[in-house]
Amino acid sequence: SGSGAAGEAVSGAQLIAESLKAQNIEYMFGIVGIPVTEIAIAAQAVGIKYVGMRNEQAACYAASAVGYLTSRPGVCLVVSGPGFLHALGGMANATMNCWPLIVIGGSSDRNQETMGAFQEFPQVEAGRLYNKLSVRPSSLEAIPTVIEKAVRTSMYGRPGSCYIDIPGDFVNLQVNKSSVKYVECCLQPPISTAEHSAVSEAVSIIALSKQPLLIVGKGAAYSRAENNIRRLVDLCGLPFLPTPMAKGVVPDNHPNCVAAARSTALQHADVIILLGARLNWILHFGLPPRFRQDVKVIQIDICAEELGNNVRPAAILLGDINAVTKQLLEEFSRRPLKYPSNTEWWKKLREKMMKNEERSKALALQKSLPMNYYTVFHHIRELIPKDCILVSEGANTMDIGRTMLPNYYPRQRLDAGTFGTMGVGLGFAIAAAMVAKDRTPGKRVICIEGDSAFGFSGMEVETVCRYNLPILIIVVNNNGIYTGLDADAWKETLKFGDPATCVPPVSLLPNSHYEEIMSAFGGKGYCVKTPEELQSALKASMTDKQTPSLINVMIDPQSERKKQEFPWLTRSNL
Ligand code: ADP
Ligand code: MG
Repeated sequence: SGSGAAGEAVSGAQLIAESLKAQNIEYMFGIVGIPVTEIAIAAQAVGIKYVGMRNEQAACYAASAVGYLTSRPGVCLVVSGPGFLHALGGMANATMNCWPLIVIGGSSDRNQETMGAFQEFPQVEAGRLYNKLSVRPSSLEAIPTVIEKAVRTSMYGRPGSCYIDIPGDFVNLQVNKSSVKYVECCLQPPISTAEHSAVSEAVSIIALSKQPLLIVGKGAAYSRAENNIRRLVDLCGLPFLPTPMAKGVVPDNHPNCVAAARSTALQHADVIILLGARLNWILHFGLPPRFRQDVKVIQIDICAEELGNNVRPAAILLGDINAVTKQLLEEFSRRPLKYPSNTEWWKKLREKMMKNEERSKALALQKSLPMNYYTVFHHIRELIPKDCILVSEGANTMDIGRTMLPNYYPRQRLDAGTFGTMGVGLGFAIAAAMVAKDRTPGKRVICIEGDSAFGFSGMEVETVCRYNLPILIIVVNNNGIYTGLDADAWKETLKFGDPATCVPPVSLLPNSHYEEIMSAFGGKGYCVKTPEELQSALKASMTDKQTPSLINVMIDPQSERKKQEFPWLTRSNL
């Protein structure tokens, strides 16, 4: 005991661990080093699961995915200076996605501040732009209060990231327990409902609609509104469209899902019920030409500042998605409404869906080698379990995968998200596997990535193997970003001189054996070039439920998504 006084002493590291535990934090991801190693050890001692990663970026993505999957923030633990800076991407990504997250960063000792200390950096100031809260406790005694506030702030209102700065000299410093103000676990986030008049107005607008559309966003997934949204769709017969990460809130194979007619649905809807999605780039800002000029938007969100962004809404319902959906259901039970399934609107949507599905099918069944994206996803779809968690990133790999791989359950698709971040895949997959192990044992995590996306965090394969997480990674390998060169074209290109002046910036080394990264750490690696090889690798890795595996799928480096109907769609990722 360093305090010398009577009574039990406690260190800064222990106080941090105990305070996190008191706030029901279950998972911590990070990279240890001076000055935070003791914090990770103390966390394990109180029963928090600690996963050591290979780059702070991936650790921070992992911690943020825990927040989305469990509604309670995960913690990312990083060292000072560079460690902290590497985690900024994860903080920004979490805040952009509206996911709760806690980052704890060690910083230089207080008595060396401004002297050019080891890894000194103005971390609290730098954290401010990426976090809802960026703070340093003023003393050891204040740690429990600050941690409670950070956890609460990360979850209340619109969720986001919170940063806590811990001076290095705090970690091993000791205080007497009796001087510490311990704080209980914060209350669950309050659930707010919309004004009754707004609910009633919304129902009147929906009742007059000729071409309604329900858009389900990842806010709906986060608020766990799946049962009530499903009821709303069934009760009112509304066509619905999930945004990428809202896939599965209502299953993709529900007859009212119009995802395969996305453009048509957005372009012609006269009333849109927007459930937890922002009218940002993902939804083309809610503006023409993607939307009607006169579209009436009924906007439902927990964040008042979001209401009215880009489009003046016809009705605004401020509140929790699940609670407001329940309010809508109650109003509809008083004023029943069933949108008929034989309208011109449904006919138009169904025709479009059929046409689009046929086009994808034709591409999927092409027999030529090397394979195209559609063929690859067709076989993956046939052989993976319906209830697996899908992690997806890359350009074409993510975009085409989204249309080809259905989700049947909520919160089981994780991708580049609002911020369009590449490199999230491995971190997300590791977090999903950790959470699945505790909550839904046996559920598989399948991470489907482009070769470029895989490169950002490829060394996390070692993390996957170290914790023996039975993740299947599928690298859809086209030798590049968007497109690449085949081996012959690569050789020709090199004849022009210095690779730095003649290799196309989108190109990566052709025919890279990414599967060997997996076998290097004891997992199973497969390299496949044909549908038959792909099928047998998929079957083998689905049968072996214990071993991490990676299937490197060599595809046509020039394979692309099918032609878009409108020129203004080709630049967009959607
Ligand atoms: P997507 O990427 O699916 O389009 P966004 O991330 O753009 O979705 O939007 C999600 C929205 O959901 C945000 O505006 C956020 O404020 C909101 N949100 C988050 N949680 C809740 C909740 N519990 N109830 C209502 N809205 C929520
Ligand atoms: Mg690629």
